Amino acid sequence: MIDVIEHADLQSLNTFALPVRARWLVTLSDTAQLPDIMALPQFDRQSVLWLGGGSNILFCADYPALVVRMANRGIRLVADDGVRVVVEAAAGECWHEFVQYTLAQGWSGLENLSLIPGTVGAAPVQNIGAYGVEVQSCIEAVQCFDLDERQLRWLNRDECCFAYRDSIFKHGEQGRYVIVAVRFALSRSFTPQLHYGDLAQVAAELARGQTLTASMVAQAVCHIRQQKLPDPRVLGSAGSFFKNPVVPAALVTTLLNQYPALPHYPQSDGQMKLAAGWLIDQCGLKGYQLGGAAVHERQALVLVNKNQASAADVVALARYVQGCVAQRFQVQLEPEPVWLPQTLMLAAG
Ligand SMILES: Cc1cc2nc3c(=O)[nH]c(=O)nc-3n(C[C@H](O)[C@H](O)[C@H](O)COP(=O)(O)OP(=O)(O)OC[C@H]3O[C@@H](n4cnc5c(N)ncnc54)[C@H](O)[C@@H]3O)c2cc1C
Repeated sequence: MIDVIEHADLQSLNTFALPVRARWLVTLSDTAQLPDIMALPQFDRQSVLWLGGGSNILFCADYPALVVRMANRGIRLVADDGVRVVVEAAAGECWHEFVQYTLAQGWSGLENLSLIPGTVGAAPVQNIGAYGVEVQSCIEAVQCFDLDERQLRWLNRDECCFAYRDSIFKHGEQGRYVIVAVRFALSRSFTPQLHYGDLAQVAAELARGQTLTASMVAQAVCHIRQQKLPDPRVLGSAGSFFKNPVVPAALVTTLLNQYPALPHYPQSDGQMKLAAGWLIDQCGLKGYQLGGAAVHERQALVLVNKNQASAADVVALARYVQGCVAQRFQVQLEPEPVWLPQTLMLAAG
């Protein structure tokens, strides 16, 4: 028997803490419930929203259809040859708790991705990344319920088409797959990935001359994140609000004449990646407030719910930031969170 809540409050189910409601809300605590959920009269394949921790979503308005909160749990060891382990986690597991669990077993690979909010099932959706590591590097396969075929199937890493903050689950096949579990290939021997920012320095300080472990790197990542990013339990946000834009090299050459300090990173296709936070900061927008929404005072890439922001406040602020950056740098910033409901986003252009 599936419990369907009408006009459900979503404020505690999105990390922006926006006061929005779902027309209907159900909680999936076991994959076996999927057929029953799909048989509900409220279920519509096109409009259903599969919700994890709500940390990469911007609800622009009430959600006018069914929301299914993914809360299935379970972690199991699938293979272990003494060097490499394969571990499977259910989609509804808390991402950070899962990372900590793997580290406690002595398995490394996910340490740089510590403290990212959300669920295991959402991690492949945007191929979460932080401190020089993307989750795709540890994913062996993703188990999905295929809504076309109405059956469970495994997609291997290649089939997931991972790219920067991107995967098949966002494009092309969007809406076809519900992720129910993810298999990770982790290592019993630790190879540190410390090339990003000040991670090497912070990790060395923590190690104090001892041999560096994956848990120490995770601790260093948590320490840096806590300094730089607002805790969504205290100050609502969706983390980085804009993707780092990838632009033609010719535009960077032009911009460098005027902004010699412009950070730019060559890409394999000849284009250049820019730092969205730097561009926003140069527009003088740190701390800028519109209604209850604001650009974070220390991290320009993060929009926050400063004072009971409405969804309209955040949308207006995001559009304002995009406009300022476009006017000054001729660069169009693309939001990282998913804007919902989709129809409203399209209408907004
Ligand atoms: C403070 C903060 C810091 C952050 N830092 C980072 C960071 O460093 N790196 C990074 O990459 N991201 C970061 N994020 C973004 C976010 O945490 C991740 O994208 C996370 O993976 C989202 O998980 P979620 O469970 O909250 O997904 P949700 O926000 O609930 O959903 C996101 C999308 O995934 C879909 N989805 C969710 N679960 C499933 C499923 N089981 N099957 C199919 N589709 C599903 C949803 O429909 C939606 O389209 C940060 C967010 C915050 C608030």
